[in-house]
Amino acid sequence: MTQSQRDYYDVLGVPRNADETQIKKAFRKRAKELHPDTSSDPNAEEHFKELGEAYAVLSDANKRQVYDTYGHDGLKSSGGGAGYADPRSWEFMSDFADLGDIFSAFFGGGSRGRRGVGPMRGDDLRMNLKLTFMEAAFGCTKEISITHLTTCGTCSGSGAKPGTGLSTCQTCGGVGQMRQAVNTPFGQFAQVVTCPNCNGTGQVIAEPCGTCHGQRRVETTKKLSVTVPAGVDSGTRLRMTGEGDAGILGGPAGDLFIVMAVETHDFFERDGYNLMGKIPVPYALLALGGQLEIPLLKGSKQVSIPAGTQNHHTLTLQGEGIPHLQNPNYRGVLHVVLDVQVPKKLSQQEKALLQQLRDLEEAKLKPHSAKTDDQSHNSFFSKLKDVLMGQG
Ligand SMILES: [Zn+2]
Ligand SMILES: [Zn+2]
Repeated sequence: MTQSQRDYYDVLGVPRNADETQIKKAFRKRAKELHPDTSSDPNAEEHFKELGEAYAVLSDANKRQVYDTYGHDGLKSSGGGAGYADPRSWEFMSDFADLGDIFSAFFGGGSRGRRGVGPMRGDDLRMNLKLTFMEAAFGCTKEISITHLTTCGTCSGSGAKPGTGLSTCQTCGGVGQMRQAVNTPFGQFAQVVTCPNCNGTGQVIAEPCGTCHGQRRVETTKKLSVTVPAGVDSGTRLRMTGEGDAGILGGPAGDLFIVMAVETHDFFERDGYNLMGKIPVPYALLALGGQLEIPLLKGSKQVSIPAGTQNHHTLTLQGEGIPHLQNPNYRGVLHVVLDVQVPKKLSQQEKALLQQLRDLEEAKLKPHSAKTDDQSHNSFFSKLKDVLMGQG
C-alpha cells in the first residue's frame, strides 16, 4: 500500500474548503483522465492509487477532519482508519459504479482483452501440414498459404475512416459501463456491466473505415516458406512467431502453429525414431543361409543371413532409423523381421524339387517305409499315432 505524502487537496485539485459535490466531481474528472486506455501518463497507475487514497479521505467527513487537523501523520496513527478505502470494495464501487471499468482496469477486476478494451493480442492460428514419410524423416522446405487477419492499411488499424476520429458512445455516455439492477435475496443491487455498444471503451468510431468496416483488421492470404526439420512426426508442432492474427490497437500478433501430419510408408513403420519393417524371404535362404538385400530409407544394404536362421528372426541395423529432431546426425534403429513366404504358385521344377524335399523329410520320420504319395501320407499319420499312443 502506498501512503501518499502529497497534499490530498492538491491531488484532487480542489480548494481546502471544497464541498462534497466538488470533491466528487473532481475525483470523477481526474479518474477519467487517468484511465489506462486513454492516459498517456506512464505513471497513471501510481497516480490513480494516489487519487483513490485522497478521495477516500476527503469524502469521509471524519477522516477529512483528522487530515485537516493532523495531516498524513494523523491518519497513520488513527488506527484502522489509515490508508485509503480499497477501490475494489463494494461500498467504494457503488458510489461510482459507472467508473467500475476504470477500477477494474487498474486493479485487475477483469481482463481488458476479453472486453476488447485497449491493446489486444491477436489470436494464435493452427494449420495442418501434410508430409510424406520421407519429408518428415529428412526434413524439407514447404510453401504454405495462410489466411490471417492483418492490420488494415487504409486506417492503420484505427477502424476509422482516414481524417475522421472517435465520438463519445451514446449508449453509455462515454463511460464504457452501464448500471443494471439485479434482484437478490438481500435486496436490489446495482450491477455494473460493460457497455455492449462501445465494448467498454466509451468511444465509438464516428465514420467506419471503408476497407475494414471499422473492424481494424482485414483478412489477408499470404505465402510462407516453412523449413521442416528432419525427424518430425505426426503431431509435431512448429511455431511461427507473429504469423497469427494481427493484434488490435498496437497489441502483438498471435503465433501460427503448424501441426505435422505424416503419411505412412509402404514398407517402414515408425516408432519414435526407430523403424520397423517386415521383409519376405524364401524358406531356402533361411535354411541354407546367404545374402539378403535390405531396403533402407535411402538405398539398400546387403546383409549375411546365417544358415539355420528361424522364421520371424529380427535383424537390427543401427543408425538406419529416423534422424533425431534435436541432433540429425544421431539416428534411430531399423528392425527388420524376416518373414517366410509360402509360394502360391510353383513352376514344374520347383514343384518337383519340393516334392523331393518333402519325401526326404518324411523319410526321416519313418525311415523303413517305401512310399508312394498315398503311402507316405498314411505312414506319416501312423507314425504320429504311434507317438501319441506312446508306442513309438
Ligand atoms: Zn458505450
Ligand atoms: Zn480500416
